[in-house]
Amino acid sequence: MVPMVDLKRQFQDIRNEVISLLADILESGQYILGAKVAEFERAVAAFHGVADAIGVASGTDALHLALDALGIGEGDEVITTPFTFFATAEAILYRGATPVFADIDPETMNIDPSQIEAHITSRTKAIVPVHLFGYPCDMPRIMRIAKKHGLKVVEDCAQAFGARIGGELVGSIGDAGCFSFYPSKNLGGFGDGGLVTVRSGRTAALIRQLRNHGSIGAYRHRRVGYNSRLDEVQAGILLVKFARIEGYNARRRENARLYTDLLKTAVRCPVEKDGARHVYHQYTIRSPLRDRLQQGLKERGISSVVYYPVPLHLQAALRFLGYKKGDFPVAERTARHVLSLPMYPELDNETIEKICGAVKSIIRSGD
Ligand SMILES: *Cc1c(COP(=O)(O)O)cnc(C)c1O
Repeated sequence: MVPMVDLKRQFQDIRNEVISLLADILESGQYILGAKVAEFERAVAAFHGVADAIGVASGTDALHLALDALGIGEGDEVITTPFTFFATAEAILYRGATPVFADIDPETMNIDPSQIEAHITSRTKAIVPVHLFGYPCDMPRIMRIAKKHGLKVVEDCAQAFGARIGGELVGSIGDAGCFSFYPSKNLGGFGDGGLVTVRSGRTAALIRQLRNHGSIGAYRHRRVGYNSRLDEVQAGILLVKFARIEGYNARRRENARLYTDLLKTAVRCPVEKDGARHVYHQYTIRSPLRDRLQQGLKERGISSVVYYPVPLHLQAALRFLGYKKGDFPVAERTARHVLSLPMYPELDNETIEKICGAVKSIIRSGD
């Protein structure tokens, strides 16, 4: 079976470095909030050119703590996309706030900036744009809207480490950038992990307190916080992968170019607009023949996944928000047509050619 990602293969390439780092960490006796976490945070903050970066336990916690530190709470409304992973909305709900959806752009599949203002009310406090599949949102337009209405912007960068828009890295544009290091993400650890980038030192200090039980020093607590820390082992592994992230992303982009060359006449391929640098966490095609395509690929030993089959406004768990079918037609149509194909830096041209040959033959036989 051609897998979606090949994490064992990636480990083989960095094996010696990782094993020796792990030995150092295990021998240090410092497993929580030690030197590696601090080193990783400094490296990521410098890469993004932001005031600070704070390691936390997951991408979901990164969103949760960022929203908390920015003062989002009970009764507030937060505008986001209905076409994303469930955690984006969960983090808003953890704060007692209400996710308010705005439909997506049919080309990019990210939140459509022209849909945002119609959803702004006196309760709206923030926008959470999601750089889905590694493609950056139209941040210049989103930031203009946020500034005009006095809203905070929390970027969900879980799928987009290293993506850029207008030369700027995602996660360095809004008030906070929230990253996930879940193993299959384009920068992934060997377990759960996350991080928040922030431009304000004050917000950073608050997130540092929140991730460690609201602590402002030994056993003194200014507020009720959380147990949400990135551990030393993950930080050590992430340092090894972070040093290679631009290379990994460049390989993903080369793979995407070949996919698009071979598939553009058969299916709808991802777009990359002027000024946007996609990092292809996923290579996601669209076709009305999606279900048949997925079945045919499976029969030919090729993995593919539907991210995401049910938009958030139609999820059973969010029924209480009161949305119904037809509320976000672009997101709903997109959810029926998307299919993500195998994508990872080590994927070779021969395999991509085989996958594309299979896609084209299945589409042709469907005529
Ligand atoms: C993975 C993901 C998250 C959550 O990250 P975890 O580390 O799994 O908690 C949030 N938002 C998006 C868009 C994601 O893909």
